Amino acid sequence: MTTHESEIGRPRSVVRSLPAYKPGKDAKQAEIDHGVTNAVKLASNENPEPPIDPIVDAVQSSIAGINRYADHRAVALRSKITEWLGVDAAMVTVGNGSVGILQQIFLTYVDPGDEVVFGWRSFEVYPIFTQLSGGAAVRIPLNDDLTYDVDAIIAAINERTKLVMLATPNNPTGTIISANDLARIAEAAGPRTIVVVDEAYREFVDDGVVDPVRDLLSTYPNMMVTRTLSKAHGLAGLRMGYAVAHPSVISDFDKCTLPFAVNALAQVAALAAIDHIDMINARARGIVEERHRVEDGLRSLGWWLPAHQANFVYLDCGERTGEITLMLERAGVVVRPFEGEGIRVTIGSSAENDRFLAAMASVEPARKAS
Ligand SMILES: *Cc1c(COP(=O)(O)O)cnc(C)c1O
Repeated sequence: MTTHESEIGRPRSVVRSLPAYKPGKDAKQAEIDHGVTNAVKLASNENPEPPIDPIVDAVQSSIAGINRYADHRAVALRSKITEWLGVDAAMVTVGNGSVGILQQIFLTYVDPGDEVVFGWRSFEVYPIFTQLSGGAAVRIPLNDDLTYDVDAIIAAINERTKLVMLATPNNPTGTIISANDLARIAEAAGPRTIVVVDEAYREFVDDGVVDPVRDLLSTYPNMMVTRTLSKAHGLAGLRMGYAVAHPSVISDFDKCTLPFAVNALAQVAALAAIDHIDMINARARGIVEERHRVEDGLRSLGWWLPAHQANFVYLDCGERTGEITLMLERAGVVVRPFEGEGIRVTIGSSAENDRFLAAMASVEPARKAS
């Protein structure tokens, strides 16, 4: 059989028109490309520290059992989350990272032609999952200060809107949506539209920011809050996310679950993380302190910054994005560029952050604080 690679199989047209997945550069590749040593990766919003000891111990003592399937319903984990958050057991579900949960939300709600509203720029899986479902993406440009344009989001919602995707803090800009604005959007959306509040960076927000699980879900049965143990809890490599919503939303969602979506080691790791949540939160506070230090450093170099509340900073670089990314890579600092827009830089260890700040000292700010 002779054939061209592009002719094998007949992918769905929505798949054909998606670009092939391009993984971000890792530190090793940057070292090879630029002849530098000890490159650091500040590109994926990972926790710079290894997992806490109780997580490592729990995973190690469970490895011997991985010949068995995990508990498909993750009963112990769901009840642990239920207890931790103080919500009804029927309001909690778990998934393969919160990206796994987001994909399953699309599987649950979006038919071809349905509309999905989100601010842009935001998390890159929103347009990809919309396209894969055959849905229509309605992108609402961010305000000049890189926050969501809430009135425009509300104005875009109509009878065809199945989902509104809201990342708060937003990735990559780090800005949050106020509780009042979340409530306005959920109110405007009404019961026929699900409002997804993607709180992957919840643990890094300022004290006093309203917790939608505690304060909004009971008023808005169309709201679904998704969270992850990948960032603050340091479990990016194991994959565990959870969602909280009205029981009937969770029941619809669970029908679409991939069997055994949360693997056995992720389940025990998550149980250990929640059992030691004070240790996790203390580390998250340390990352926030580092973020403040990095923000101060960038401001003293003259940069304008959005009102970040996550474990990263965002540089509004516009046309100079490629040039500044390359300059940082040559200095051994691998970041996440958004071509023609800006650069997201994860808060790493203090030494890594110092590397980043030192490299920035020779860069003329692309957007200056006025
Ligand atoms: C990192 C991130 C996630 C989730 O990551 P998982 O590792 O799949 O849990 C979800 N939403 C946003 C906005 C993120 O940045």
